[in-house]
Amino acid sequence: MAWSLLIRGGTVVDGSGAPGRRADVAVAGDRVAAIGPGLAGPAERVIEAGGHVVAPGFIDAHSHSDLFYLGCPSAESKVRQGVTTEVVGMCSFSQAPLRPEQREVIQGWAGGIGASLDLRWETFGQYLDALRAVRPSVNVAHFVGHGALRIAAMGFEARPAGPDDLRAMERRLGEAMDAGAFGFSTGLVYPPSAYSETDELIALARFMVGRGGLYFSHIRGESAMLLDSIAEAVRIGETGGVGVQISHVKASGRENWPKIDAALRLIEQARARGVDVAGDVYPYNAGSTKMDNLMPAWAHEGGMARLLERLADPAARRRIVAECLVDGERWRNVSQGGTGFDQIFIASCKRRELEGLNLAQLAQ
Ligand SMILES: [Zn+2]
Repeated sequence: MAWSLLIRGGTVVDGSGAPGRRADVAVAGDRVAAIGPGLAGPAERVIEAGGHVVAPGFIDAHSHSDLFYLGCPSAESKVRQGVTTEVVGMCSFSQAPLRPEQREVIQGWAGGIGASLDLRWETFGQYLDALRAVRPSVNVAHFVGHGALRIAAMGFEARPAGPDDLRAMERRLGEAMDAGAFGFSTGLVYPPSAYSETDELIALARFMVGRGGLYFSHIRGESAMLLDSIAEAVRIGETGGVGVQISHVKASGRENWPKIDAALRLIEQARARGVDVAGDVYPYNAGSTKMDNLMPAWAHEGGMARLLERLADPAARRRIVAECLVDGERWRNVSQGGTGFDQIFIASCKRRELEGLNLAQLAQ
């Protein structure tokens, strides 16, 4: 038979953990049909891969590309790194569900990661339809963001969810999962996800039992609160009865680096008693997020418009500044000893001339 594609002479790293080996790879239609030395043609297309590695597509287990597919469905920044599957809807952020009157709130919240969003849907299923219509070049596994669930159920309010709020979140989580979502994600440093208590998250996890749902979490603290936060994620999975993925595991801030062994031990101990908990890491020692997250959670209540009002109010500003100077967890240890303002860089901004500046330079 004729192969559709023959990749010849490369070093095959197959993802099983086995060492790389020299082999040819033959593809028939959309399937790998044969792997071995000296595969013969004919083939519609032959790639000479000598000196290169041949590998299956990589899975990016933590991505925020969901904000960009509509504008850039070719997803070249990922494809050119070898990524063929992405997991999105991370850290409590997703662009659906949303109520029509909340478009502006969602725009300021999810769009803060750097995309300008054209939000034409209400349910998660409608959102997935809009995405399918542009045919992204990568495979995408979607999670529904806890922040989006919460905004749809109870607005941008800084309070625990009541029974009615919880039912409203469950209904939308069920809709999202019926439409194809793999589970839900939290970002417990990001309002409004940050306004939730552990019991709310256990209840939502329980709701997914029997539906195969997974809980992905940007945990409540990656610095001073690291160990408690990992314990909380484990507890949500263990009590809620679902698998847990701890996103971008790290000990943030030099003074917290020694905690990483204890953090990994917590995960290993949970796994040893049968909890399905795992984590992922990114392979660099920096983080990237929305800069409004440098400000305390209370300042965000009500959404972006209310945050801007508070920033214009002298008393609220003084309180925000004071809290930003306290060492510890939430506001990223920006005073002495921690990550300084000169180590926070503006990567993307509507005013392009500010990109590349650090926060200290911006202040000057
Ligand atoms: Zn995150």
